[in-house]
Amino acid sequence: MPSNKKRGAPVRAKATKADKRTLPDIVPFGFPKNREDWLETAVTMVLPFIRQAASWAGVESQLTSPPKISCSWLPGRATSALSSSDYNEASNSYEIVISPLLGKGWKGGEDYTQAVLAHICHELIHCIVGPDKGHRGEFPKVATMIGLEAPYRHVAFTEGLRQQMHEQIVVRIGEYPHTSIHPVKKSGGNRQRKWVCDNCGKIIRCAGDLKALHQCEDGSTAPFVLAN
Ligand SMILES: [Zn+2]
Ligand SMILES: [Zn+2]
Repeated sequence: MPSNKKRGAPVRAKATKADKRTLPDIVPFGFPKNREDWLETAVTMVLPFIRQAASWAGVESQLTSPPKISCSWLPGRATSALSSSDYNEASNSYEIVISPLLGKGWKGGEDYTQAVLAHICHELIHCIVGPDKGHRGEFPKVATMIGLEAPYRHVAFTEGLRQQMHEQIVVRIGEYPHTSIHPVKKSGGNRQRKWVCDNCGKIIRCAGDLKALHQCEDGSTAPFVLAN
């Protein structure tokens, strides 16, 4: 989720009315074919929820077209960030990105599908209230209405919304078809090694084997030996 620049006390929303509301029931066009299709279908199904909630909250939607969504590392965010939304002026649309960390086997919890849906709701609210509004002002008004829990840096559903998401979305489109990807730190194979000339002590660093003889300044030739 995008960084919350404003620090201080989190915005505490009042008790949610979401459980008493009936949100629009959107039937999917078909069972998603793959991960990207699942994400797009989820956005299509969730967006009317958020639009309805915004209207109940008296918030005017800034969204002109449905946001695009993809599974990717987040542009300009920390590796640990799980979702983001950015306005793309060139295409006049929002781009929601869900981190590849979120998926089956995700370390943050078993219910990765609910987590992805919660992040989609969170980012859709950002898209609806407009860019650069953060988690204050209109954001909590809409979030409270659908049943997202405060503080909003932690993306979580109230039990009522979790149940509703399960019955209206997960049952129909299945679990999010993606397995968590954990970036592997490259080490060992690419590590630079230190070679020292046996004769003059000249140091060279390279990852591979240094088999060529070295021409020292005194005119002699000598092999490099591995220093570490
Ligand atoms: Zn956010
Ligand atoms: Zn030398």
